Amino acid sequence: MPFADVIGQEGPKRKIRTALAREAIGHAYLFSGDEGIGKRLMALRFAQALSCEAPPSSSQPDSCGHCRACEQIVSGTWPDLLVIEPEQDKANPQIKIDRVREIERHVIYRPLLSTRKICVIDDADRLTANAANAFLKTLEDPPEHSLFILVTSQPLRLLATVRSRCLALRFSPATPGQFEGALALKQAMATEDVRFLSQLCRNRIGVALRTDLSQLRSRHDRFFELCRYETLAHPTAVLQQAEELSKGQPFPDVIDWLSHGLRDVLLVTLGTGQDFLLHQSRIALLQQVAESLTPTDIVDLLDFLQTLEQAPTQNANLQLCLENFLFRFHQTIHRDAA
Ligand SMILES: [Zn+2]
Repeated sequence: MPFADVIGQEGPKRKIRTALAREAIGHAYLFSGDEGIGKRLMALRFAQALSCEAPPSSSQPDSCGHCRACEQIVSGTWPDLLVIEPEQDKANPQIKIDRVREIERHVIYRPLLSTRKICVIDDADRLTANAANAFLKTLEDPPEHSLFILVTSQPLRLLATVRSRCLALRFSPATPGQFEGALALKQAMATEDVRFLSQLCRNRIGVALRTDLSQLRSRHDRFFELCRYETLAHPTAVLQQAEELSKGQPFPDVIDWLSHGLRDVLLVTLGTGQDFLLHQSRIALLQQVAESLTPTDIVDLLDFLQTLEQAPTQNANLQLCLENFLFRFHQTIHRDAA
């Protein structure tokens, strides 16, 4: 399980390996970048490279992936590594001060089996103000043998004083090619499905691997159901659909698949190639919907949807918002039938 496991991220990888090669490792690193693109995985690979008991003899520092240290780091049982993360079951997950005390106890003693006591703090932006201030004290005067790796997709939410004490490494999403290659290695999947995930997960491999593809597909298929004339032909049907959607799915998800469906219709009206479509296999249906529409019609609907994005934060009636949209949507795409 060496560094090659982390897809892309050549910049951070190079910096870490250079630091390892020169034995010039800082006390604290800040890995920042989007959710699900390999930051935590890289932190574990870094810990493995530092602790591996049988490192491969290559020109670049790495780990073997199967010695006791490498395996226990992955299974979470390596005594010289502590991984801290927010309580997962809460609506507003936090890392509280008792976890910082745990960090202090972890790093105060010398490492048992390796040269470093490592602490990975995942979603470090979730440290409460109290916890962050307490942690700052440790960071200001870190034990010689300690290494902190802070992982976050929201670096600006960290205390500036914490940030400034870390070496910052910025992570970016994989390229479409890297994404497709990585996914093909993990699971057998049709090319169209890989493209579908690539677009919807914005090439974040971790996010794609956590996604239930069939559930995602069936959500997006709802768009085509709404496009059928009969689905929204009667006002009571519109009310019923709006109610079902507002109660059955998170509102942002509904806005998301509606926008993606409309975007495909827009691309068809613009005559761009099939390659750019999210729903490539639905090209015939998309063409049918797009037939009597101009790009402006679709842009208007997309604008309308965009204004709805703020609805949940404005305490708006979401069902009513969707009713308004669906009426307009139906009237626009079946203008000729009226
Ligand atoms: Zn190893």
